[in-house]
Amino acid sequence: MNFEFATAARIVFGAGKLAELPAITGAFGTRILFVHARSALTVAPALPECFPFLVTGEPTLELVRAGVRLARQERCEVVVGLGGGSVIDTGKAIAALLTNGGDPLDYVEVVGKGQAITKPGVPFIAIPTTAGTGAEVTRNAVLFSPEHHVKVSLRGQHLLARVALVDPESTHGLPPAVTASTGLDALTQLIEPFVSCKANPLTDAICREGMMRVARSLRRAFDTGAPDARADMALASLFGGLALANAGLGAVHGFAAPLGGMYDAPHGALCAALLPAVFEMNARLAPNRERFDEVRRLTGDLPELCRALGVKRLREFGVRRAEFPIIIEKAAAASSMKGNPVALTPEQLGEILEQAW
Ligand SMILES: [Zn+2]
Repeated sequence: MNFEFATAARIVFGAGKLAELPAITGAFGTRILFVHARSALTVAPALPECFPFLVTGEPTLELVRAGVRLARQERCEVVVGLGGGSVIDTGKAIAALLTNGGDPLDYVEVVGKGQAITKPGVPFIAIPTTAGTGAEVTRNAVLFSPEHHVKVSLRGQHLLARVALVDPESTHGLPPAVTASTGLDALTQLIEPFVSCKANPLTDAICREGMMRVARSLRRAFDTGAPDARADMALASLFGGLALANAGLGAVHGFAAPLGGMYDAPHGALCAALLPAVFEMNARLAPNRERFDEVRRLTGDLPELCRALGVKRLREFGVRRAEFPIIIEKAAAASSMKGNPVALTPEQLGEILEQAW
């Protein structure tokens, strides 16, 4: 048995903990680049010498360049990211580029030079306002390159946040559709690392605990928004991030990466559309079948859960059958696919798409 486990230097979790943000940032410096979504301003506590940087929609390479320019101009010592996965990933990328220099394209794979990020970034504090991506504890930043029409990642240990501050109260205002899609992303990020060929005993324990919490609380968070259900989902999302950063993902995310670049659809909604079909295919073919039985015991019937949460089919996001071959080709090459418990053939990938379409 060999494994390594890396995460944020400090994780602070609890209702009302956002109020501690001024004290947490104060330990690193006073000039703060505050990367945020529009909605996040209503929950943010006041910070001295705070330079706001708004993220709308998908974070692009250009957006990261603009953030780095602003942070340099204002001599920022700390970067805070308050928002969903897009905002947190933007903050991570800015914090890393501030010390490593150069352009985002120097560090991304496929469309860039793929250089390693070698230096620790400016201290970065990640505060999620959705319960799904777990981006507060992952070591990659997903960015969109409009010119290449593809999502690319900056990766490495130095992208880990210095502090992950998870306050379930900051997810209280989420509309049901966002609760559903982000919650199913969290669930996918607990199932895929659990059945992954890179799973280890530490991520296993985290995944079991997270799946149990999603099973008992996602429908209630969707139906009623009850605070205790929200807290379970915020924790499940954090656990999904811890698990995926250390045990990898699988075919759901292998598909979600290219689909997210090709179609205007929320990441969580794409994962939700694909999850049941990928799960069934893997359960049939993978060598570690007992793992799939355990997931079924912990989570219950996945297709039924997806129906109850109003999950859409791929065709409803504009995915066209004619593009299946290119989707299959890109998914097979996606880095998440390496964690899938069994190597899937192009025919099997096609069958999954057909099921989810
Ligand atoms: Zn995901």
